[in-house]
Formats: sequence, structure tokens, C-alpha cells
Amino acid sequence: QAPTTETIRIEVDDHQVVTLTLDDPSGSANVMNSAYRTSMHQAVQWLQQVREEIVGVIVTSAKKTFFAGGDLAGLQSVSPATAAAFFAEVESVKADLRALETLGRPVVAVLNGSALGGGLEIALACHHRIAVDTPGARFGTPEVTLGLLPGGGGVTRTVRMLGLADALMKVLGQGTQYPPAQAQEVGIVDEVVPTVEDGLRAARAWIAEHPDAVQPWDTPGFKIPGGTPAGGPIKAFLPSLPALLTAQLKGAPYPAPQAILSAAVEGSQVDFDTASRIESRYLTQLAAGPTSTNMIQAFFFDLQAIKKGASRPDGIEPRSVTKVGVLGAGMMGAGIAYVLAKAGLPVVLKDVDQAAADRGKDYSKSLLDKAIERGRSTREKADELLGRITATTDPADLAGCDVVVEAVFENPALKQQVFAEVMPHLAADALLCTNTSTLPITSLAEGVDRPEDFIGLHFFSPVDKMPLVEIIRGERTSDAALARAYDLVLAIGKTPIVVQDSRGFFTSRVIGTFTGEGLAMLAEGVHPVSLERAATQAGYPVGTLQISDELNLELMQRIQRETIAAGAGEHPAYAVVDAMVERGRTGKKAGQGFYEYDENGRRGGLWPGLADLYPVAAEQIPFEDIKDRLLFVEAIESARCFDEGVVTSPGDANIGSIFGIGYPAWTGGVAQFVTGYPDGGVAGFVRRADELRERYGDRFAVPDSLRARATKEEAA
Ligand code: NAD
Repeated sequence: QAPTTETIRIEVDDHQVVTLTLDDPSGSANVMNSAYRTSMHQAVQWLQQVREEIVGVIVTSAKKTFFAGGDLAGLQSVSPATAAAFFAEVESVKADLRALETLGRPVVAVLNGSALGGGLEIALACHHRIAVDTPGARFGTPEVTLGLLPGGGGVTRTVRMLGLADALMKVLGQGTQYPPAQAQEVGIVDEVVPTVEDGLRAARAWIAEHPDAVQPWDTPGFKIPGGTPAGGPIKAFLPSLPALLTAQLKGAPYPAPQAILSAAVEGSQVDFDTASRIESRYLTQLAAGPTSTNMIQAFFFDLQAIKKGASRPDGIEPRSVTKVGVLGAGMMGAGIAYVLAKAGLPVVLKDVDQAAADRGKDYSKSLLDKAIERGRSTREKADELLGRITATTDPADLAGCDVVVEAVFENPALKQQVFAEVMPHLAADALLCTNTSTLPITSLAEGVDRPEDFIGLHFFSPVDKMPLVEIIRGERTSDAALARAYDLVLAIGKTPIVVQDSRGFFTSRVIGTFTGEGLAMLAEGVHPVSLERAATQAGYPVGTLQISDELNLELMQRIQRETIAAGAGEHPAYAVVDAMVERGRTGKKAGQGFYEYDENGRRGGLWPGLADLYPVAAEQIPFEDIKDRLLFVEAIESARCFDEGVVTSPGDANIGSIFGIGYPAWTGGVAQFVTGYPDGGVAGFVRRADELRERYGDRFAVPDSLRARATKEEAA
């Protein structure tokens, strides 16, 4: 008689095959919570008792996915104080999977949907994995993207299945999530079948054919494919891995990739159980450290909240979109048309002359050609997508559009004129969006007769790649308009954050302090190479000089003039921008900025004249200070944005900063960097900011609200 457990249904069929169906009644997905741990323990204990009477085991799930993975709230809360208990818990979860693996009966996983992280690790403990080809199903170990490692046996088993090189490069190191066919190619899945019924049938067949299944690593004489660091082909390749890793991370402080490499390499030289224990130790170290806490916050909790509509007004029924107009077929308009059409929406792309409109549509064609070349799309799908885009100059073609996105030149009069021209043709209550990057939404809205339907929809360049859309609410924007914009952004597969109208909105305002601080340091005599390197070592994708070249110094100059006109004080970076523009060194587009560029726009070295313009100071400030000045100036500006109500959700600030403006992922974003500051939380952040303020000025003055939080935190 099979026992009843809380999250696993146990059934025995006429052929004495046991099916374990993972089906946690407390949620829509199975996760590695305490109910799972108890249930799996009970199931395995019972299987051990009846092993003589059964012929095999099938593990599957009754949810949409097979298993969602680790209990991230639990993982996030691990601290040095609870590390020992966590280690023991991990070891006990793994002991049950090991007992299943060494039961002496064939165990087959039927993956009816995604198996990621801990979910894949359950499957890896089975002797055979059959994936059902369901849309959206993904297999892999994304732990590294949360600052963790696959510590449920994932490292130990993939190294033994695939060898060190493939395990590290294809599965563990990047956290890639593979669709079924690719997962089979990589080797983490053995078979792919069309339906769950096929999967169960195939599982029974496999069990019948392999009555004595054991894992290769539990057979005498087993050798890891490709060898171990002590011998075999991997020996020659291994010494280059740490250097490769450092180069990939550009020295940024991510502990997980290093821990994965160590766990894999150390584990490959010892027996399975020792390797598994080594892996648990590294997982415990990562879980107890600050980086995983911060990354879980941003990449799991904040993202999940955004997808669930955290900043979307409540109680507004979603409406479907039937046809979208895009005004202006330049760089942004063309990209916006592409992502809309890709999501299945009919798009009318309008410009002033047909050639410009056609060029905008051709941009989609060039993206699709590339996708076909790489095997990511087919001619048929591409033609369908292109068929959804109508390139035109005629406003009447916008008839019936229920959403319009304006992306013409950054000129308020022109923008208002363009809206006036198309309004009569649109659906009566069409949502009116502008992609402006700098103009206040509230004043642009004054130009239309329905300001309540007017909203900022700030895409980032290149639109097809950048995941973020900053939604900007004007003073008169209605909740209904905000909800429609939010739904549209989600529908096209992008991530929305919601901010209030303000100079530079949220993202441009914050990144402005980053470039500003970099240029200020240059003017102080910080060596430009140190300056750029400090940024990448802090985890930014590029340094402040490079990003300024890409943003364009003329645009920066225009923004700083407007900022000054609006009554804001001077900033030491302004003179640097002026000096560069005066010399015609306006950036990448001009072929010369802080860097030199060749005729193809490829970046060369730093401009040699920079040394004369800003001589390097004899005494350099500490390298740590350069990094912290960049990280802190953005975090402090974000705190001011909270005080002013420009952003209201820490999650929006975190995701906006990471996805939109390259704030380092290891911090968990601008808000989480403060909350989870590795050296003492908010109070530690304030202490360090005070130090920076004393050395470098009032740009590092923390707002009172933050100081109050620090005091409260210290009292608690
Ligand atoms: P762009 O110069 O590449 O394109 C503007 C297009 O608008 C041109 O094709 C032009 O012919 C067209 N246009 C001008 N008048 C028109 C009219 N009356 N009707 C229809 N089309 C007209 O500019 P862009 O870089 O695509 O920027 C467009 C908007 O997006 C600007 O408001 C800009 O601030 C904003 N934006 C730009 C970026 C960026 O990185 N470039 C990022 C976010 C937002």
C-alpha cells in the first residue's frame, strides 16, 4: 500500500511500475519547499521497502511545468548564522535523490514541462529523462543568474554525464535554458516526445528494457568523459578556464561562476558522494553571501512582481489591441514596429516620405534575415511578420488604430503637429504614446485633446534587444491609459516599469549622474584607463567615457543646458562636455569622441589629446573610490527619485537600472544595492556615502529619508 504524501501522489500499476506525480496542492508549480522535502523523503523510504516487489519508477508532475526549482525565499534568507542548518538541509534533500538513484530499479523522469534548477536536478538523479515537447518548455540550470550554483547534484551529475568542458560551458556556467530539442542535443535530456501519454509509454518501455539500470558513475571503472584535471584531454584546456572566466566577467564581483568552476573541478577528482558534499558546501557559501540575496531579489522577486502587474493600477479590465500606428520610421520607430509585429500585431509605420517609411520596414527585414541565417526563424514566419507592417506616408492608413506610438524627431512642436495630423483617423479612444526620451509628458499632452489617454512609452535602443520599457505617467494620464500601456508592454514580451513625469524621467536621470561622475573624475585628473576599468570591474557593461561617446556629447550638452535653464546647479562634468563638443569630438557618430573610431565605426584607443586636455594627476585616488563613486552616485540619485515620487516601487527601480542603464546585476539594482549593501546594509551604505561626501563633495549627500532608514535599521 503506497503512502499518502502532501505533494507527491504515489501510484502502482498492474505491471508494478510506480509513478510519483509531483503535485503540490499549495501552488501552481512544484517547488523545493519543506512539504516537498518531507514528501520525497516518505516516497523514497517506501520505495526502499518495496524495491523487491516493483520493477521501476516514473517521476512526473501534474502541473504545467515539471518542477519550478529551489525555494527562493528560503535561499534568499540564508545567512552566515543559518548556514550550517542550510547545509544539513541540502544534504538531506540530496540524500533522498541519491537513494532514488541507487534504488536498484530503473527510474525515469517524464518532463511534462519545464524543469529548471532544482527541477532539472531531480530529473538528473533519474536514469533516463524524457521531455515532452510543449511550447515554452525549458531545461537548464539558471542558478548562476541568481548568484547561486546547482547544488542539488547538478554540478556533480552533469560533470559525470557530459564531462567538465561541456558541463561548464553548456550547462552550468551560463545558466542557459534550452528548449526540448536543444536540451537533447546538449545531453541533459535523452528523448523528446510529442505528448505526456507518449512520454509515459516511452518510460514504461525504457523500464522494461533496462531492468537493472544504474548510473554510469555507479559502475566499476567509470571514467568522466574527457578525463579529469589529472589526466585526459581536459588537462590541457583547464588551466585557461580561470583566465577565461575573469575575462568574461571583466573582473566584476560575481562569486557564483568561480564557485561553479571550483565545485566542478574539485568534484571531478573525487568519488560521487564527496563531490556532492563539495558542491553543497559551495552552494551554502553562495547562499549565505550577499550577492545571491540581491540577485534573487531583482531577477526573481522583482521581475515576477512586474510580470504580475505590481505597478499596474488595480481593477481595470484588460483590453485587446487590434492595430498600432507608429509615427516616424527612424531608428526607434523601425525597431518599435518590429517588436509590435513580432508579437502578432498589425502595424502601420508612417514617415514623411515613402522611402523613409520603406527603410523603416526594411529594418525588420534585415533583422529577420539574420534570424533565418541563424536558424531562429523561417522564411514563412518572416514573411508573415513583414506582412503585418504597412509602410506609408498617408495618415488615413492609420484608420482604426487603437494605439499609436510616436517616434519622430525630438522636437515638441513637431510631435504635437504629428499627433494633430493623425488624431482624426484613429479609433476614438486610441491610446496615445510618445517615445520621447527627454520632453516632459505633461506638456506634450497639452497638445492633444485627450490628455488622459496620453502617456510616455520609453523604449531603449536597440529596441529588439533591450528588454525594458519605461512607462511615464503625465499629470493627467488616467489609470486606464496606464493599464493599457502596461498590458501592451507585457504583450510584446518586454518588461515595464512605471515612473512619474520628471526631467529625464527615471533612467535617463540616473544614468546622467553616472556619466557626470565619470567626467568629473576625468577633470580631476583620474587616469582615463583606470576610470574605464573601474566601471567594468564594478560590473558596468562599459565605462563612462565610452557610454558618453555612444550617447553623443552634443545631446548631453543640450540636456545640460536645459538642466541649467531649469535652475539646477552646475556640475563639473559640464565643462568637460563643452570642451569636447568645442573640439568637434562629439562621440561615436562623429567618428571621434573620448575614443578614436575607424571608418566602420569600430572603437580604437583613447584620444591621445585627452592627456593634454585633462592631465593625469600625480596622485591618484583609490581605485575602490572610483568604483564606489559610480555605484553610489546612481544609488543616491535613485533615492532622491523615491523621495520625489518619480519612482514608487523598489522593484521598478532595480529592474529599470539593470535592464535599462547597465547598473551592475550583482547589486540587485539601485534600490537593492542600498538595502542589501554587503558591508552593513542601509547603515553601512550611509557610512560609506558620508565618507565619499567628505572626500568628493555634496553629490554624495544622502537624503534624510535614507539616513532615517539607516537609524531605524540599526535600532532594530
Ligand atoms: P530618428 O531621427 O532616427 O527618426 C525620426 C524619424 O521621424 C525620421 O525617420 C523622420 O523622417 C521621421 N519624421 C519626422 N517628421 C515626421 C512626420 N511629420 N511624420 C512622420 N515621421 C516623421 O530618431 P530616433 O532616434 O528614432 O528617435 C525618435 C524619438 O525617440 C525621439 O523622440 C527620441 O528622443 C526618442 N528616443 C530615442 C532613443 C535613441 O536611442 N535614439 C531612445 C529612446 C527614445
